[in-house]
Amino acid sequence: MQNNLSNLVVVGSVAFDSIKTPFGQKDNALGGSATYFSLAASFFANPGIVAVVGEDFTDNHHQILKNRKIDTEGLEKVKGKSFRWGGEYSFDLNNRKTLFTELNVFEQFNPKIPADYTNAEYVFLGNIHPLLQQKVLSQIKKPKLVGLDTMNFWIEGAHKELLDVLKLVDILIINDSEARELTKEYNLVKAGKKIIGMLGEAKNIPPTVVIKRGEYGVLAFQNGNWFFAPGFPLEDVYDPTGAGDSFAGGFMGYLAKTKDTSWQHLQRACVYGSIMGSFCVEKMGTERLQNLTNDEIKTRFGEFKRLTHFEE
Ligand code: AMP
Repeated sequence: MQNNLSNLVVVGSVAFDSIKTPFGQKDNALGGSATYFSLAASFFANPGIVAVVGEDFTDNHHQILKNRKIDTEGLEKVKGKSFRWGGEYSFDLNNRKTLFTELNVFEQFNPKIPADYTNAEYVFLGNIHPLLQQKVLSQIKKPKLVGLDTMNFWIEGAHKELLDVLKLVDILIINDSEARELTKEYNLVKAGKKIIGMLGEAKNIPPTVVIKRGEYGVLAFQNGNWFFAPGFPLEDVYDPTGAGDSFAGGFMGYLAKTKDTSWQHLQRACVYGSIMGSFCVEKMGTERLQNLTNDEIKTRFGEFKRLTHFEE
């Protein structure tokens, strides 16, 4: 392994995104679920990526990951084009339209986990085909905590495979609209409870669901426990792409760093996740995460605490 301790392994997309928002447009920007996740997680832990890219992924792109000390031993480069995705946002930045999804090199991808990753304790099955998520998980010897994210593309296109892999994970981190689609339940409390019933053979912790609600924050459920963390109120939002993956990166990264998966820590992980999502949206693409500092995270955590505190 290139870094000394990659205790957090993520599988997901490494992509080129074409994004349109009311405030700007960017074509072929480095993106993808594993990219955003690992950039955010790198402020807490040493993430290792499992993904595939094509010949269009250059040394400059690689350097963006290396600058954050992300382990790329599991990032395979093959002939062909990388995954490509296009999305457009209206003024309501909580809603986006997918313009295209081109799987390209992901269609033939057969993940082989580097030997050192097989001992990872924290695993995140980022947004990608559920069969790939399952193939990666089956190669990790003794995970302590397994999280998963998905999206409508897979809920609709690989439903059965998704239900199968859900049974093997501890935590599902999912968007509100996708939670509704998965459970056919409008009410998010009911949807959360239904999802808990879909998880659960992993048993590292009681089955847990975190529902992301864009700028409105997240709702977390575990047994009889509930938690709500608001989104951090921002004046300037440019591009919500990757906010969900950055949330997951901050969330899992914090847990991998502290090695504590108690409910109290899961709540704090939700706050760190919200904070990483809030940084991500301040610039187009991954720019903000590339230039972020630990001091900025610390300061925003303090502001978050102050903003959400009230006396009895
Ligand atoms: P988020 O905004 O956090 O939901 O994630 C946006 C990222 O997900 C973009 O960088 C896309 O490249 C990536 N993405 C979009 N659709 C898919 C898909 N079907 N599978 C995997 N990754 C995707």
